[in-house]
Formats: sequence, C-alpha cells, structure tokens
Amino acid sequence: MTHRAAIVSALVVLALLVGGRWALGRGPVETLLVETGPGMPAAPSTSAPPGTPSPSPSTSPGGGTPSPKAPKPPAAGGSIETRRLTGSKKIALTFDDGPHPTWTPKVLDMLRKVGVKATFCLVGTEVHQYPALVQRIVREGHTLCNHTWHHELDLGTKPEAEIRANLDATNREIRRAVPGAKITFFRHPGGMWTAAAIKVARELGMTPLGWDVDPLDWKKPSAEAIRTRVINQARPGSIVLLHDGGGDRAATLAACPSLVGELKRKYGIVLLR
Ligand SMILES: [Zn+2]
Repeated sequence: MTHRAAIVSALVVLALLVGGRWALGRGPVETLLVETGPGMPAAPSTSAPPGTPSPSPSTSPGGGTPSPKAPKPPAAGGSIETRRLTGSKKIALTFDDGPHPTWTPKVLDMLRKVGVKATFCLVGTEVHQYPALVQRIVREGHTLCNHTWHHELDLGTKPEAEIRANLDATNREIRRAVPGAKITFFRHPGGMWTAAAIKVARELGMTPLGWDVDPLDWKKPSAEAIRTRVINQARPGSIVLLHDGGGDRAATLAACPSLVGELKRKYGIVLLR
C-alpha cells in the first residue's frame, strides 16, 4: 500500500508541475491541434489524433488520454513553444484565414459594436486580393498575425529558407497594403508547428501564436454549438481560435455577440500585442 501511495503522490506532484507549466502559458506542444483554412484539405490528424488536448467533447479520441492537460513530447528537432494564454485573467479573440470579402467586414462590424479588439491571422493570397480589408483591420486597432502565404499546412516541414521566403512574402504583402504595419504574431496553419517554423518566425520578429480554446467553427457547427464550446472550454487567460475566412462564417458571426458578451462579463477581453 505504501508503495502504491508513493506512486500516487508522485503522480499528483507531476500533475501539479504540469498544471503550473500550462498556467504559465508555456504549453510545450501545439502540433496536434488542428485547424484548417481556405479550401485546404483537412490535416491528416483532423479526426483527433491520439493525445490531442481535445477541448471539444465531440472530437475526443475516445478516452485515450486520462488527462487532457498531459504534456506531449515535443516534435523532433527542438522545443515547440507557442503562446496560448494571455498572461492575465482576460481572454483574447483571434480570427484566422481572412481577410474574406464577405465575412471580415461583418466580423469587424460586430467587434466594433461590442467594443472589442481582436487578432487577425492573415493569409497572404487573401491579403493580395483584399488589401483594403487589411487597412480597415489596422485602422480599427486590431492586431496582425502572419498565417502563411497560402495556408500551407506542411510549411513547417520545409527547409528553413523556404519557410522564411513564405513568411517574408506574406509580411511584404501585408505591408504593401499597410506600409510599416506591425505584424506581431505568426500562427502556423493547422497548428502544425515545427521547431523550424518557430525559429524562423522568431527570427523575423514574430511570436508564435497558439490557442487554448478551439470550437472547431471551420467544421461549420451551429452558432449555438460554437457558443457553448467556447464558453465551456474558456478559462482565465484563454486565447480563443475563431475564423473570419476560409468559407461561410455565418454561424461564427451569429455566435459572437452573446459569446463575446459572456466572456467579457466573466473574464474581460484583452487585445494581444
Ligand atoms: Zn488557418
């Protein structure tokens, strides 16, 4: 019994250590989280890979992991650390895969109405087509994030020079729309982070931006499902992943006013910088 008690105590201590790490926003792995974008094939791991933190009950791999917060071994080649918490109690909103000619203006209108600012993770090809929307995003005080040139899910597996060229091209396109624009973050498509992608992003002055709450809105659940998932998954400091681009975002947009109102009341909302 004492032997067993010792093992249990060790596990408790380990869990506390792990919990502390996550509380500091230093979640070691983003690799297994999945998010897809404009017309992109789903990542091979879309159907909830083993060990995914699986924030949504609907994507649970079926009890494979006893603790959803258990750390995963980093991908080969170095440390994979992304920012996934705000660092305070307040919650941050992020919108990916735009700018989109239909949905981005509506999301911007909604944010203005509720008095909240967010981070927009932009795809280079969309920036190229809709530079005026990037100008509006910046004019209205939101934060910018590089989301690769064409939402390449496998970019992180390419040689560093190719990753750098892709991120550079995306930044150049953003700054062609808004000269001198500050691009604070980089978010890898699908959360398919690699050490190389993180290294290049940092070298280009961008912080790798993960997330803590993912309602899988790109799979087009109902607005109510999006709202419920976000509210249920949110905790102090969560960074919430939503989409303004990549397809019909009517449900995301419909979910936002009440969802944002509730997060604002419970935690407050902060703009990442
Ligand atoms: Zn994306």
